[in-house]
Amino acid sequence: MTYQPNEFVMLSHRYTPRNITGYQSKPITIAKYTAGFERFDSKFELTCQCNASALALYGILNDDLELLPPLATKCICCNKKITILDLSKHGHDGEYGHGSSYPSDGDKLLYRCKNCTKSIFYLVAHYTYQFESLKEFEDIEQSKIPNYFDTFELEATCKQCGQVTCVGDYECA
Ligand SMILES: [Zn+2]
Ligand SMILES: [Zn+2]
Repeated sequence: MTYQPNEFVMLSHRYTPRNITGYQSKPITIAKYTAGFERFDSKFELTCQCNASALALYGILNDDLELLPPLATKCICCNKKITILDLSKHGHDGEYGHGSSYPSDGDKLLYRCKNCTKSIFYLVAHYTYQFESLKEFEDIEQSKIPNYFDTFELEATCKQCGQVTCVGDYECA
């Protein structure tokens, strides 16, 4: 089966969603994700502008040890900090100023691997664009449409032990 992304995903490969423009990002379009690679999925490998690919991750930890936004990363080489997901600004509802249903207070804590407890990860940003058609967004400049994703998920691969975790899956619409 050939991978045929929808028009939103193709736009996101051309105009990077604004919450990851602080990184170097590489769209994943290869067979690596063919199994279950839905046509509304858009994924990017993230690297710091300094070329380091291992990042530390911060957010609000809930009782199930899932990380809630706002989420931030810190490069272990150059110390650059980036807020990768703030639902009051990012995603479909954030762009429209609808706010979010996630609590935005609480202490920001360092995320740790559930397997080995180390805290350095390789990150993949995963967006979905499950919309009928671009017509829904006809008032919005084309280059900004990729900012209106309906879900965001962060996949983290532990640098130490290789364990892959979904840090969280966030509803943004
Ligand atoms: Zn860096
Ligand atoms: Zn680990």
